[in-house]
Amino acid sequence: MRAETTAVIIDGKEIARRVRERVAAEVKVLKGRGVTPGLTVVLVGDDPASAVYVASKGRACTEAGMKGDTIRMPATATQAELVAVVQRLNQDLSVHGILVQMPLPKQIDSDTVLRHIDPAKDVDGFHPINVGRLFIGDQDAFAPCTPAGVMVMLREYGIPTAGKHVVVIGRSMIVGKPMAALLVQPGVDATVTICHSRTTDLADHTRRADIVIAAVGRPEMVTGDMIRPGATVIDVGINRVDDPSSAKGYRLVGDIHFESARQVASHITPVPGGVGAMTIAMLMDNTLKAATRIADRRPA
Ligand code: NAD
Repeated sequence: MRAETTAVIIDGKEIARRVRERVAAEVKVLKGRGVTPGLTVVLVGDDPASAVYVASKGRACTEAGMKGDTIRMPATATQAELVAVVQRLNQDLSVHGILVQMPLPKQIDSDTVLRHIDPAKDVDGFHPINVGRLFIGDQDAFAPCTPAGVMVMLREYGIPTAGKHVVVIGRSMIVGKPMAALLVQPGVDATVTICHSRTTDLADHTRRADIVIAAVGRPEMVTGDMIRPGATVIDVGINRVDDPSSAKGYRLVGDIHFESARQVASHITPVPGGVGAMTIAMLMDNTLKAATRIADRRPA
């Protein structure tokens, strides 16, 4: 029987700080070899949330000692214009990582744009070559930053995965599917169930999970009664809910109902301060990896 205590809260900010610290130390070494890792973010249009993300990526680059550039294009930019920018960045030797900020305006097909990014500079890990490599289990693939961050969190808190049953809720290419791919790799060895919008009786699956990872985008949809006592709960969701008591008029919540879930879980990530804190740290890590590989002249 578990003692009547609440879950250990997984401190994403602290783990992210340690990742960024290690990356900054490795950047210093690389600079000593004459290479400054460079990340260029392309921002099309003026979506305010995207502008906030892009600004924080720029700050993270500076903190890590990397060169961080942003190319801004108007909301009216055409697909051909964006592809031309990507192709120029592919050729630019001072650029090691390229990230096209999503979402893109509706006249642009994001899949087409992503396919034009040089896979060796695809630090988001969304190019089909990197997706394929991830599923193959190639350690050199760029894993998408959010699921890669979850893997680091599980490792840092010593949460066993081998032979454990993990239920991933959500099947996007950004989180759910790459998350599952990382979890089934030899060495990680989890047994994975992917649930999605057409899954019947979600709770029946989550109640049998040793680890629940929610990446849906529905505020607090997973409640404590859906969690097996002692399970680990990872909340990827970031949702704004109205909150007149807050100065901003809203607050952020995850896909997990934190208060009820923490009563039964052994470990849980908060929102904010959980998975969200890891994503940019892992982006810095992928950019370092890209720059190191290019500096070593290793094939992508
Ligand atoms: P998405 O909209 O692409 O995918 C959502 C998934 O949820 C879909 O696969 C869908 O099948 C599934 N789903 C929808 N309703 C469901 C239901 N009732 N039951 C079970 N599954 C259901 O979203 P995404 O890009 O994967 O993002 C998911 C959430 O994670 C969002 O809140 C997003 O803001 C957040 N997110 C956070 C980070 C981070 O850095 N922490 C990064 C990416 C996404």
